[in-house]
Amino acid sequence: MTRMPMPKRKTQCKKSSNFLFSTLLLEWFDQYGRKNLPWQQNITPYRVWVSEIMLQQTQVTTVIPYFEKFIHSFPDVQTLANAAIDNVLHLWTGLGYYARARNLHKTAKIISNDLAGRFPADLAGLMALPGIGRSTAGAILSIAFQSSTPILDGNVKRVLSRYHAVDGHYSDKTIENQLWQLATQHTPQERARDYTQAIMDLGATICTRSKPNCAHCPIQGCCIAFNNNATNVYPVTKKKAILPIKEAIFLIFLTAQGKTLLEKRNNFGIWGGLWGFPEVSKDQEWIKECERQHNFKVASLQEGAKFRHTFSHYHLDIVPYYIQVENIRTILRENDTYQWCDPKQLPQIGLAAPVKKLLKSLC
Ligand code: SF4
Repeated sequence: MTRMPMPKRKTQCKKSSNFLFSTLLLEWFDQYGRKNLPWQQNITPYRVWVSEIMLQQTQVTTVIPYFEKFIHSFPDVQTLANAAIDNVLHLWTGLGYYARARNLHKTAKIISNDLAGRFPADLAGLMALPGIGRSTAGAILSIAFQSSTPILDGNVKRVLSRYHAVDGHYSDKTIENQLWQLATQHTPQERARDYTQAIMDLGATICTRSKPNCAHCPIQGCCIAFNNNATNVYPVTKKKAILPIKEAIFLIFLTAQGKTLLEKRNNFGIWGGLWGFPEVSKDQEWIKECERQHNFKVASLQEGAKFRHTFSHYHLDIVPYYIQVENIRTILRENDTYQWCDPKQLPQIGLAAPVKKLLKSLC
């Protein structure tokens, strides 16, 4: 898209202060902002932290039921620290980006065991914990501790990029630093909690990714993108990369009793710590390998329909193989890595979305 030459900003906006920006935003928030979200009630550092982690890359409407179930099961940091990771991942199933759940669990243990159950009330202390970056730390400090600390999540980046016509992509370190500087300037000393909620709300409900509702925006008067009819130019976007395609074969072992074998993945990678079907890549001679390793005979084998699961950075084409097995006693004894499950009565474990889908199809 061709960039329009930017005329000079309106004279009154030259004097526009950070005070005006936050005042207008807070007035708007008092009247229209969201105040009934579950994490806005009984505010504690723990509840703010859980909600902020869940809200990373995920919409509010998706997060609400997950947050409620999670808090119901783990009402405080000690309960979360004492929980089994399988139970934590179980409540995360379907939310994606499972490293977030693993880091929540790790951080809960640190807070519970090393910090006497208290969240640090400073930026460096919070950012030293697994999974807490500068923006999440800023949200915890401003919302839970009412300290004047900026945040810079996706919504805030979008608002500031348009308001100031920031000329570059977020992934550029210089642009990121510029946005942090702007976020810091705009964050008021008073009402830090409300301001943080207000700017996140504005990005989520008014200054939306496509078709921002500028007519109802409280900071429209000095927004450079709006005043130059360039709201579609900012934030500057990158050309979408074509996602590579990977392929995986899921081995769905089935016994005569209708049980299927699940394997726990190691704690790393995209589905780290989740349970799934044993997986092999296309080029492995997997049948022979399984028979050799686990001493069983394949009674029958059927290739299922291939389907695609898309991650943010690649497509995964999954081919399920349904394998009826015999000699159940001799194959793969249950341990911490393997368990035979009845798809109709699944234990409380974390499952990746395509595994859950395939298990449902077995019922
Ligand atoms: S005027 Fe429009 S583009 Fe500017 S901040 Fe408001 S909603 Fe976003």
